[in-house]
Amino acid sequence: MAIRVTCSGCQRSFQTADKWAGRSTVCPACRAALVIPVPHQQPQSVDDAWGPPIQATIPQALFVHHHKTSGDAFQSGFKASLGCIVAIGISAAVVFGGCVALSVLLRPQIQRANEQQRQQAQEQFDAQFRHNMELIHDEQEKEYERLQRQINRSLR
Ligand SMILES: [Zn+2]
Repeated sequence: MAIRVTCSGCQRSFQTADKWAGRSTVCPACRAALVIPVPHQQPQSVDDAWGPPIQATIPQALFVHHHKTSGDAFQSGFKASLGCIVAIGISAAVVFGGCVALSVLLRPQIQRANEQQRQQAQEQFDAQFRHNMELIHDEQEKEYERLQRQINRSLR
């Protein structure tokens, strides 16, 4: 069976005998160096056409894929839990900071409210005291007037 050869130099094709397969020669037209190709019917060519044996590649690919996947799963799981911990930490810090800030911000207001309450109580007490004193004064005055009237009556 003949082998068809195409020259890479001049692109001309010609045929040669099977027995020259794999041999080096020169193009009869342009004298460029050529290698007579090995026909596809030969087992070596079948392997080349099909690529490496399937049995050799698939388990390796599966193993690599599985190994990689489990590694990735572990890594992503680790990253996820790390992210979770970081998020919880940040949340706790924000809550704590918020409480501290709130107490700092509210302290003057609370103090002011307490002061206002104290002042109000003082004012209420003062007002009540003044009222009581006025009442006493009035009563004293009335009593005085009554006594005065009695004295006036007795003097008549
Ligand atoms: Zn040629």
